[in-house]
Amino acid sequence: MRKKIAAANWKMNCTLQQGEQLLDGILGANIELKAHQQAIFAVPFPYLTMATAKLNGRKGYSIAAQNVYNKKSGAYTGEVSAEMLQSIQVPYCLVGHSERREYFSESNQMLAEKIDLLLANGITPIFCCGEPLSIREAGTQNSFVAKQLEESLFHLSAEVVATIVIAYEPIWAIGTGKTATADQAQEIHAYLRSVLAGKYGQAVADQIPVLYGGSVKGSNAKELFSCPDVDGGLVGGASLNAEEFATIISSLP
Ligand code: PEP
Repeated sequence: MRKKIAAANWKMNCTLQQGEQLLDGILGANIELKAHQQAIFAVPFPYLTMATAKLNGRKGYSIAAQNVYNKKSGAYTGEVSAEMLQSIQVPYCLVGHSERREYFSESNQMLAEKIDLLLANGITPIFCCGEPLSIREAGTQNSFVAKQLEESLFHLSAEVVATIVIAYEPIWAIGTGKTATADQAQEIHAYLRSVLAGKYGQAVADQIPVLYGGSVKGSNAKELFSCPDVDGGLVGGASLNAEEFATIISSLP
């Protein structure tokens, strides 16, 4: 069975103490995860070791970094390398969140470099893709997201691509309270999987979890996650509330 994942993206939120409290609240719900289920917390860099300690090896619970630099090492003041993340046992890292693409001009090519460095260090990329509102309104979202996959992922071998996670996040639904309907999510997730199948074959495409992101909440998670090609969610705002995120984790099929 494909992995089903509830991934929290804290973005640039929480003090250390608030972050500790938030994790305590979620872990306090004592949700036991099945072998195919995962809860992942993409926390700010300074909290990665705290979050690892809090999760304390609990089955199915992991941390993620929110970003990594696209160079191996050197004179890049303020940046964090994949090797650094690997040295503190970070298992996952977000790549290409739309906020990074927009505010930090991250190109598909730059993201391909980040993905290669993460994989070389044994870290699983959670590759984010998704279209802006203008593209959705023009009805060209499929070719837009297919190009994102092609330019950032299609240099990978089938064996390697089968190990990554993809998050489809329509930009018009991020932080707006506007969620894609379950039908809209299923339609484009199935399309993304068909693009992966076209390049790598159906068996590989069937192994890759494709998460939905964009105003996922406790109240809509179950419906979205029940779509056959939606393998969980990447959650911003609602992941900052312990009760909400616990409900989202519990909604994983
Ligand atoms: C996100 O930032 O990845 C996200 C989906 O945010 P939100 O859930 O707040 O829309």
